[in-house]
Amino acid sequence: MQELTIATTNPHKVDEISAVLGQLGIRCLPLGRSDIPEPDESGATFEENARIKAVAYARALGCMVLADDSGLEVDALGGAPGVHSARYAGIGATREERDRANNAKLLAALESVPDALRTARFVCVLSIARADGTIVAESRGMFEGVIGRAPRGTNGFGYDPLLILEDGRTSAELSSAEKNARSHRGNALRLLVPKLAR
Ligand code: IMP
Repeated sequence: MQELTIATTNPHKVDEISAVLGQLGIRCLPLGRSDIPEPDESGATFEENARIKAVAYARALGCMVLADDSGLEVDALGGAPGVHSARYAGIGATREERDRANNAKLLAALESVPDALRTARFVCVLSIARADGTIVAESRGMFEGVIGRAPRGTNGFGYDPLLILEDGRTSAELSSAEKNARSHRGNALRLLVPKLAR
């Protein structure tokens, strides 16, 4: 079984990536170190930020790593919060507090936007870098929906309680297996593995 280090400090991403890659025959190793400074995500696109993270962690760890940069694009907001999704509201000491503040800010920003114009998608870009900093594979996945008017569901993380899918459930109302089978991250992983094999 192949092994791959997942270069993220987000435990939800680790769980989702490990579940999908496990089904594809790849065992995931966590970062396992907390002394590596988080790289500055200064890119203007998910692709740039995924590369920045992959290269920084691969060099620091001296092995091949997989990095994930992801976020929510809302059409009525011109694609925001986009690459700024994690710190959209700019407050919160813990991941859970930041998620709650981000969701509240998004609902306020969309208050006067009618249902038909609340289209949005999660985007996930994955990048794999070698220890020498060269990128060996990249992929992008998307997960389409509309932004609801109140959070619903307790699974997942981030904006999951706000993205309503085609079947009327939010992403936070899906089991983890259901989310991984349809999500931006699951789709990006399924595109990435054949590229890695090549
Ligand atoms: P990153 O760590 O810079 O890639 O930021 C990702 C941010 O995008 C997260 O903190 C969430 O706010 C949001 N996000 C990414 N993927 C998901 C997801 O699967 N569900 C809900 N929110 C997500």
